[in-house]
Amino acid sequence: MALATDPQPGHGGPLVIENCAIATMDGPRHDDTGAEHRSGHIVVSGGRITAVGEGSAPADAAAGARRIDGTGCLATPGLINTHHHLYQWLTQGRAQQSSLFDWLTELYPVWARIDAAQVHAAATAGLGWLALSGYTTSTDHHYIFPSGDRGVLEAEITAAAGVGLRFHPCRGSMDHGRSAGGLPPDTVLEDPDEALAATAEAVRRFHDPSPSAMVRVAVAPCSPFSVSSRLMREMAELARGLGVRLHTHLAETREEDAYCRQTRARTPAEYADELGWLGEDVWLAHCVHLDEPAVKRFAVTGTSVAHCPTSNARLGAGIAPVRQLLRAGVPVGLGVDGSASSEGTTLAGELHQALLVARVRDEHGPAALSARQALWLGTRGGAACLGRTGEIGALRPGMLADVALWRVDTLAHDAIAHTAGPSGPSGADGDPVAALVFGPPAPLELLLVGGAPVVERGELRTIDISAAARDVRAARRRLAT
Ligand SMILES: [Zn+2]
Repeated sequence: MALATDPQPGHGGPLVIENCAIATMDGPRHDDTGAEHRSGHIVVSGGRITAVGEGSAPADAAAGARRIDGTGCLATPGLINTHHHLYQWLTQGRAQQSSLFDWLTELYPVWARIDAAQVHAAATAGLGWLALSGYTTSTDHHYIFPSGDRGVLEAEITAAAGVGLRFHPCRGSMDHGRSAGGLPPDTVLEDPDEALAATAEAVRRFHDPSPSAMVRVAVAPCSPFSVSSRLMREMAELARGLGVRLHTHLAETREEDAYCRQTRARTPAEYADELGWLGEDVWLAHCVHLDEPAVKRFAVTGTSVAHCPTSNARLGAGIAPVRQLLRAGVPVGLGVDGSASSEGTTLAGELHQALLVARVRDEHGPAALSARQALWLGTRGGAACLGRTGEIGALRPGMLADVALWRVDTLAHDAIAHTAGPSGPSGADGDPVAALVFGPPAPLELLLVGGAPVVERGELRTIDISAAARDVRAARRRLAT
C-alpha cells in the first residue's frame, strides 16, 4: 500500500470554503434539521470549525488560510457509517440468492481462513471506497477470530489511519456454535474467556476517549444465534466497566425472530432487554423486525439503531420501521453493512435507499421520510449511535472539521439543486439537499477529516487507490485458493 501523505487530525492547516450551499444539520431533531445557507462560508482551523454562515467569510477569518471556491457545491457534515464488515470485501458476489442464515452458512468457512494481511487489504479498499462516497467516520464489526486476534484489529486500525478516517472498530466474538444449537460451525468459534480477555486488551490498546479521537473501540459479540447468553451478559459488563459502547446485530430476519422465540422463548428485543443489552450506550444493527412494545422500549432506554437498507434488501430481510423509530425518539443512523451483502454500496447511496425503502414500507408513502431526514440519519443519527453528538455530525463552530463538499451542478443534479421549483423547501431557487438525496451519488469535490483533506476533486489524497485495488485483488485470490 502506497501512502501519499500521512494525515493527522487538525494537521490540514487553516482553510476557508466559500460560495457554497450549506446544510448545517444543526437542528434539534430529525424533522427540524437546522440552518441552511444558499451561498455561505465555513472556516476551519486547528482541526475544528470556527465559523459557519451566509455570505463571504469575515475578512480576518483564519489568516493565511487556504481558500476554496465552493461555487456549485453543497457542504454537509461528513457522513457517518454505523455498521460494516470490512473483511467481506474479499467475498463479494457470493450466495447471491440466499437469505441471511444460508448466506452465513456458505460464507463462515471461507471467512475462517482470513488473516491480518488480507483484512488490511480489504479494510484499505473498503474504507478508501467509502471515503470517496463522502464519509468521514466509520465503524467496523469484526467477529471471526477462530485462532485468536493475530493482529486482525490492529490491521484494520492501521488501514483506517492510512486512509485518514475516524474509525470505530467493534471487537466482535462468537462462542455459540452448531453443536450447542447455534448457527456457525464450531470451527469458527472463540473460547469465551479468551474473547473477553482479547476484547479488554483491544480497548486498552486502541480506545481513545478524547473528544477529537480518531479511534474508539466498541464491545460487539456478534448475534443472538452465534453468541451464548453468558458471553452477551459478560461482554455488557465488560464494556460498562471500561466505559465503552456496545454493539451487536438484532432482529435482522424472520428466521432470527423464530430462532429467539424457539430457543429463548422471547423476541430478539425482549431477549436483548433481559441480557442488559438495551441502553444509551448500545447501538444495534438492523432492527427490521420490531413490534410496537420493542420500539417503545428502545425509546425509553435510549437505545440506538443502525439502519442498513441496501443489505436488508439484498438479503430479502425486510425494511426497518424507521419512521416509527424516529417518531418514538429513537436515534437511527445509517450503515452500509458488510461488503458481501451490499457489494460496494456507498453511504451517499444509503441516503437514497433509506428515502425510498421508508416510502415503500410505510402507510404514509412519500410522507414517510424526507430528504433532510435521510441526511439526518447519515449525520446526526450516526453521531448519536457512536456516542459522538457534539463532536461530529453537524456544522457549527467548535465541532470537529469533518466536512463533505458535494458537486450539485452536474447534469443530473443541477435541475434539482438550482431550479427545483416553488414546491421544494427552498422555493424557486432549487433544493441542493434534495439533489444530493433524490439524485444519483453526487461527485465529491472535497472531504475533510479534522480539517485535513482526504478527498479532493473525486480523488483520494491519502492512499493510491489503484495500489489498494491491486492488493485486495491479490488477497482475494489468495483466499480463494
Ligand atoms: Zn452486519
